[in-house]
Amino acid sequence: MTFTLAGIKPHSTVDGPGVRFVIFFQGCNHKCFQCHNPETWDINGGLKKTTEEIISEITLEKYIDGITLSGGDPLLQSQAAKEIAMAAKKRDINVWCYTGFTYEQVIQGEAGEEAKELLRYIDTLVDGPFVLSKKSDSCKFRGSSNQRLIDVQKSLKQNNVIEQNEFDFGL
Ligand code: SF4
Repeated sequence: MTFTLAGIKPHSTVDGPGVRFVIFFQGCNHKCFQCHNPETWDINGGLKKTTEEIISEITLEKYIDGITLSGGDPLLQSQAAKEIAMAAKKRDINVWCYTGFTYEQVIQGEAGEEAKELLRYIDTLVDGPFVLSKKSDSCKFRGSSNQRLIDVQKSLKQNNVIEQNEFDFGL
């Protein structure tokens, strides 16, 4: 399917552990103060691409440790995000996703039904808005300390939020 993206970064080392293929989705409604990517807010901006194109680009990458859905907010285009995440999981590729929604909001359906479905294909969700007053140098894979690294599959299974420590990843 066609979706709107702000760009890709095939070999990022700052958007999760290891070397990751990052897809920056276009469009975000959270309007966090001092957001680093305000150019990604406008859903009518960015460029059009198909999920099939992105999936084949990921497939060509032989040396990545995972993919990361970022933005903007990927949950504004959850169906496209889900197609990409599903294809990655089929190939046993690790999937991280950043969103300005909290995990609880997603579970309660505030980001839409498709976003809830998307959770089934995400290993780690970095959730919540960026809060400038909670920005800290000790944050490795997140912008502010209110954001959590959530083990989504464990959290869904246990019906509880199970967090991960960003310094526990070996890569
Ligand atoms: S959720 Fe992310 S992209 Fe959206 S406004 Fe907040 S920091 Fe910026």
